Amino acid sequence: MSAPLRTHAAWRVLDGFGGSKRAWSRSVAPRTTDEMAAVFAAARAEGMQVSFRGAGRSYGDASLNSGQLSIDGRAMRRILSFDAKTGVIEAEGGVSIAEIWRHTLPQGWWPAVVPGTMFPTMGGCVGMNIHGKNCFKAGPFGDHVLELDLLTASGDKKTLSRTQEPELFRAVIGGLGLLGAVTRVKLHLKHVYSGRLKVRPLVSRNLAHMFDQFAERTSTSDYLVGWVDCFGSGDALGRGLVHQSHHFAEGEDPKGHETLALSKQELPGAIMGFPKSLLWLPMSLFANDQGARFVNAVKYALPEPVSNDGTYLDSHAGFSFLLDYVPDWRLMYGRDGFIQVQLFVPDATARDAFAEALRVCQKRNVISYLGVFKRHKPDDFLLSHGLDGWSLALDFKVPRDAQRLWDCARDLTRIVLEAGGTYYPAKDQVVDAESFAKAFGPRYDQFRDMRRQMDPSALFANDQARRLGLA
Ligand SMILES: Cc1cc2nc3c(=O)[nH]c(=O)nc-3n(C[C@H](O)[C@H](O)[C@H](O)COP(=O)(O)OP(=O)(O)OC[C@H]3O[C@@H](n4cnc5c(N)ncnc54)[C@H](O)[C@@H]3O)c2cc1C
Repeated sequence: MSAPLRTHAAWRVLDGFGGSKRAWSRSVAPRTTDEMAAVFAAARAEGMQVSFRGAGRSYGDASLNSGQLSIDGRAMRRILSFDAKTGVIEAEGGVSIAEIWRHTLPQGWWPAVVPGTMFPTMGGCVGMNIHGKNCFKAGPFGDHVLELDLLTASGDKKTLSRTQEPELFRAVIGGLGLLGAVTRVKLHLKHVYSGRLKVRPLVSRNLAHMFDQFAERTSTSDYLVGWVDCFGSGDALGRGLVHQSHHFAEGEDPKGHETLALSKQELPGAIMGFPKSLLWLPMSLFANDQGARFVNAVKYALPEPVSNDGTYLDSHAGFSFLLDYVPDWRLMYGRDGFIQVQLFVPDATARDAFAEALRVCQKRNVISYLGVFKRHKPDDFLLSHGLDGWSLALDFKVPRDAQRLWDCARDLTRIVLEAGGTYYPAKDQVVDAESFAKAFGPRYDQFRDMRRQMDPSALFANDQARRLGLA
């Protein structure tokens, strides 16, 4: 590093995806691990704390670092190797999920786990140990990472795997970027024989029905996701739709090979003739309680076009990245943005906890405009949110009188804790350190110990980690 960071690292205002958290920080974008190591040394010398930012797709303050240094990981975005026989790909930390599947799908490989948007980077997917609509079956992202490279606070380069420093491997995955920079990921992809999925939509009369529909189908589905109309009440509390989908087996889809082409995965440029780039504008007319109630009711009542067997075909990108159909959709929430709270609750308590959560929101008149329901399975990562249970993700517009939202969020934090659940940092901006520590129990202390050992001078930190007492 030739010039001091305080001179050459520009100030930028960065936000979380929800747009309700913003922070000024200096930003640099190293292109190699050596450049990154030099940035670490310079930051230490200049008394700055360092955070990592991938695509900035975490909803809250996970990738923010107020007044300190933010490393933009996207300058390191080379795909290093891909073996089309084994489906193993190696990529730098700044490579996105989109860049991975665009590289591999034509040869029949799709990432085993993807989030609901294609823009997150390898570093961000590792840092949060993201999950997909198949988490009940495939587990989280970390279950498919064979190996990764970590650049530590001292500038050491370590290669980690289930056999090489396995404890550190399990702490870095889901470790919020607090143990070092993930500079390379070796990932095992899933073999697919078609670019399409068979999707079966099912109507759920209420939350209890949705739990039952999932329970009946987890052993026979590749993907399951529930959409919840959070305005439903009484017998219709938590009503919604379940989407169950399956991969085609080898030879089953007559158009299997041709649909692997990238041209068959592109999301449409216009919806009903309206350019997608401007769609958030008319959508903003519905981003209020009456509008959202109407949209949710129409979505619930309108049957989706299906063939005789009750299914339709959708591309991998279309099914997986529904939220990417409308670019910049988050802008519809206006200047103060929105937050997401995702409740992770064990199987034994989830039915009661989710019903209580929906009722509390209605009582407080803070109703989520979008609810998403999933089934999860446990994993062995140190700070993982994964459990043998369920999640309910709730998007809330930040209202003018925001205090009622923060009060409601505090209730939701309490409901999770009382139900024995966990919090998911990728979606969180409201949980306090005490609740987080209680939810994770001894794992919280183990993580803090490991962090102290790996980074004794506390070089790495971010706004979320400070709030959660992890930095
Ligand atoms: C529309 C939408 C849908 C989503 N759907 C899902 C979903 O279905 N399932 C799910 O699990 N998540 C979902 N997410 C959340 C998203 O997948 C995670 O927040 C993910 O971590 C974002 O990756 P990113 O590259 O943007 O990382 P950022 O948000 O920029 O950073 C996230 C974390 O990763 C760390 N990090 C980033 N890069 C590195 C690096 N190189 N080395 C070390 N640490 C690093 C940061 O320190 C930070 O703690 C969704 C987000 C959006 C916007």
